[in-house]
Amino acid sequence: RAGVTEVRIVATAERSARALIAVASGKGGVGKSTIAANLAIALSRAGRRVGMVDADIYGPSQPRLLGVEGTRPEALDKQLIPVLTPYGVPLLSMGQLVEPGRAIAWRGPMAAGALGQLVEGAWGRADTLVLDLPPGTGDVQLTMVQKYRPAGAVIVSTPQDLSLIDATRAIDLFQKAGIPIIGLIENMAGYICPHCHEISDPFGLGGAEAAAADLGIPFLGRIPLTGSIRAASDAGKPPAADPGDAVFAPIAAIVDAWL
Ligand code: ADP
Repeated sequence: RAGVTEVRIVATAERSARALIAVASGKGGVGKSTIAANLAIALSRAGRRVGMVDADIYGPSQPRLLGVEGTRPEALDKQLIPVLTPYGVPLLSMGQLVEPGRAIAWRGPMAAGALGQLVEGAWGRADTLVLDLPPGTGDVQLTMVQKYRPAGAVIVSTPQDLSLIDATRAIDLFQKAGIPIIGLIENMAGYICPHCHEISDPFGLGGAEAAAADLGIPFLGRIPLTGSIRAASDAGKPPAADPGDAVFAPIAAIVDAWL
């Protein structure tokens, strides 16, 4: 792929017995954290013992999404103890390591060290960790693929070209490291006007499916842009936690593949 700088990725660790599922994107704001939160809850509801690692140093939003904003993890023998969320998914977040509202301005080695504290927290009997990664292909991602060897990666993109070009770079990083790509999700695909019910496509439509076919990776499906997803997320009540709501199809596809 022209224009993508070559990165040599050396695996330095054995894959751990606990499966790590990385949720990644090229750009920020495409719904990666929202999808990670819903995936963790859906896996937990399907019977897995799931923990959430929020490694997004630029916008750690899992404490809010999972309804535990403002909480701090305790530490025992220098190991962080995850905070239990109302959804049965314990959480450790980069946002819990800094003062609320402060920028996280860490250089690479510090960010990588913080990632270690989260992944190597006191996860007890958790058999699966969902990892909400920062957008892009920086130090946190490199440490994660080299040292922690996720069992698979889910890539989130909007249908827009700009988002897809960056998603392709993220996919390239995982592929070079030999991490299986579980698939690509197209988020914010199509908007149904609540007034006139006309469907419009603010970010285009179908781009991610075509890109997945091009790259030879599975396409997991689309999630529409809806006000209810935004409102539920802001309220710390991910739709996957609501027994009355159907789980989004792309998330159900991952859960099926994983069980
Ligand atoms: P990222 O993790 O990629 O930065 P977020 O998950 O934080 O993105 O989502 C960015 C914003 O978009 C949040 O306000 C979130 O509630 C909203 N959002 C994400 N997906 C959808 C969707 N399908 N419909 C409506 N709003 C969405």
